[in-house]
Amino acid sequence: MSGKPQLAHHDQATQPDARALLRRHGLRCTPGRLHVLSLLSATELHLSIAEACDRLTRLGGYVHPTTVYRTLEVLTATGLTHAVHGPRATRYGITGAPHHHTVCQRCGHVAALASTHLTEAVDRIEELTGLRPDASGSLLVYGRCAGCDD
Ligand SMILES: [Zn+2]
Ligand SMILES: [Zn+2]
Repeated sequence: MSGKPQLAHHDQATQPDARALLRRHGLRCTPGRLHVLSLLSATELHLSIAEACDRLTRLGGYVHPTTVYRTLEVLTATGLTHAVHGPRATRYGITGAPHHHTVCQRCGHVAALASTHLTEAVDRIEELTGLRPDASGSLLVYGRCAGCDD
């Protein structure tokens, strides 16, 4: 296939095909959407707009920051990605296996924490407060990441 985004091989190997995902959600397969979705699927990281642009550029798939921003708004609205609002730039992650998030209050780094690790904590929170985090995982743990802890 000609003009295939360079990032696409990631999702063919290990991830649901980005094109199929976009179509299933009624979205047109623009190059920007394919790049951004493939990047987030492949890395499973939570990236800010600036970080996503930086990585896309390094992977040879430059996408204008405004396009990345608009793309992530669309993807988040359809639930393909989700936003984590920390003390700094909003980070976006792929919606896949249920997870909670840790947020560094200094640098804004967001990491995923598999929900399976925290089932007891979630049960205890419900027991103590009556609040049940939703199925997608919604605990936010604030602190300082390893890189900032000096
Ligand atoms: Zn997440
Ligand atoms: Zn940090």
